[in-house]
Amino acid sequence: MGSTGSIGTQALEVVEEHTNQFQVEVLTANSNADLLIQQAIKFKPNAVVIVDETKYQQVADVLWEHDIKTYKGEEALAQVVEMESVDVVLTALVGYAGLLPTINAIKAKKAIALANKETLVVAGELITKLARENGVAILPVDSEHGAIFECLVGEHQNKIEKIYLTASGGPFRGKTKEELKSITKEQALKHPNWDMGAKITIDSATLMNKGLEVIEAKWLFNLQPDQIDVIVHPQSIVHSLVQFEDGSMKAQMGLPNMKHPIQYALSFPFRFSSKSPRFNFMDYPELTFEAPDKITFKNLSLAYEAMEKGGNLACILNAANEVAVAAFLNDQIGFLDIATINQKCMEQVTFIKNPAYEDYVSTDAKTRELANSLIR
Ligand code: NAD
Ligand code: MG
Repeated sequence: MGSTGSIGTQALEVVEEHTNQFQVEVLTANSNADLLIQQAIKFKPNAVVIVDETKYQQVADVLWEHDIKTYKGEEALAQVVEMESVDVVLTALVGYAGLLPTINAIKAKKAIALANKETLVVAGELITKLARENGVAILPVDSEHGAIFECLVGEHQNKIEKIYLTASGGPFRGKTKEELKSITKEQALKHPNWDMGAKITIDSATLMNKGLEVIEAKWLFNLQPDQIDVIVHPQSIVHSLVQFEDGSMKAQMGLPNMKHPIQYALSFPFRFSSKSPRFNFMDYPELTFEAPDKITFKNLSLAYEAMEKGGNLACILNAANEVAVAAFLNDQIGFLDIATINQKCMEQVTFIKNPAYEDYVSTDAKTRELANSLIR
């Protein structure tokens, strides 16, 4: 899901390097019909879904000649994951849109390679419970969580004392609030170490991404809030660390390259070969670590608050942030307004302690409405 995006295209590169191991069954995209068509002709899936219905005819006209089924719309996206021939669903679409297809995939007992962190942020409790009930594995694709996952191999009898999620600090590390006021989207879209989709790149600049990852880690590894720490590591070589009860720490390292966690999630428990460039110590004589600035980058504190209070608060934070980031990318609000809108929505949308699926849907809708009115 999301084959035309940053993760999706890199996942297809992984597949291309291991054609004897993987077969693409379904590809889905929001609206990039041209790339979806190219990918489908090359990887010959059973079916494709284009969510944007205005692009359907263009895709269908080309792919019927190649004997590839074409579907359109959100409903098809949510259903196509249930196809019998599918073993693993890679959730590489962005935002809340991943929730329903992921739920359906778990119910259909498909393993989940999870890039779409928003799904776990919105409804982590529901998703992890459903996965346990269905005996379905959720394999992390996010690099930090993939790192922790690798550190935990062989440790299933041992308790985690704490984890450290590393953060690059983004392009504005060390900047003051005053300096951040006038940041443009062009500046925010330039990440120092990673080339990613627009939404996550802005989230990295505001530290929202690390906040979402803290919540993602809580659900993936069943941790309490005080067991999750964030440490800024500008070189992005140590991808995260686990500390065990004897005080020993394990880290997973390597050059920043999303193809690694994508491939490991798909090859686990095996390691497949990779031609990607190797780390050279002489290129990195210093690896440095510092505390995150949670006061200037308020989103990280908001995420901790949402995680500690639980209920639908993280769903509120996620919806507010999706709307605010889109507005920032649309030149409607300033860089610092993103966190302000997030905070206001967390204060104003009704808190629900034990939300069911329908409560997440209504919370998401109500929060989007409020965030949009704050922007206007
Ligand atoms: P992207 O914007 O590059 O790609 C998003 C993909 O999802 C595209 O194929 C698009 O067509 C599809 N899509 C977008 N909106 C959709 C909708 N409403 N319904 C259906 N499909 C939709 O994003 P990305 O950077 O590849 O990120 C994808 C997910 O992976 C995000 O949740 C992100 O947080 C996570 N992630 C990305 C990276 C990275 O390096 N890019 C790293 C870690 C985690
Ligand atoms: Mg990450």
